[in-house]
Amino acid sequence: MDHRAATALLELYHDLDAEIAAANPRCAVSGRCCRFGEYGHTLFLSELEAEALLEPGLPAGAVSPDLCPFQIQGLCTARDRRPLGCRVYFCDPAYAERQVEISERFIGRLKRLHDTLARPWNYRPLHHFLVAAPAAVNAEGGKVARDFA
Ligand code: SF4
Repeated sequence: MDHRAATALLELYHDLDAEIAAANPRCAVSGRCCRFGEYGHTLFLSELEAEALLEPGLPAGAVSPDLCPFQIQGLCTARDRRPLGCRVYFCDPAYAERQVEISERFIGRLKRLHDTLARPWNYRPLHHFLVAAPAAVNAEGGKVARDFA
C-alpha cells in the first residue's frame, strides 16, 4: 500500500477510534465477534482495508469463512490494521443506535477516500479477500490452507 493511502486510512481509523472511545461501549472481551460462524455475522471490508489488513500475510492455519485468521488464542493479532467493521462493532445493546450512526458516517468517509484515491470500493466479506490473496504465506513461510472456495 502506498504511503498516501496508508496515511489517510490510518487517519480515518484514528478519528473513528476517538469517536468510539467517546461513546464508551462495553466489551466483554469474549472474542466471539471474531468467530463469525459461532456468532452468526459477516465482516465486510473495503479494498483498501483488505490491502492494509493482509499486507503482512496471513497467520498460520486454515482459512475459513467461520472465523478470522487473525484471532489467535482469543486475541486480535492485527489490532493496528483491523478494519472499520472490527473497530465499530460491540455487542453492547446500549451502544446499538450510536454504532449505526458512527458506522454509516465513517463508511461514507471511507467511500470518499476510495474515490479520492481512484480505488475500487469492492466492499465484500473478509473471506472473499482471503481467497483472493495472492500466494498467502504464514509467518514460517508455508502456504496457508484454504478450506472453502
Ligand atoms: S481483524 Fe482482529 S478484530 Fe477483526 S475480526 Fe479479525 S481478529 Fe477480530
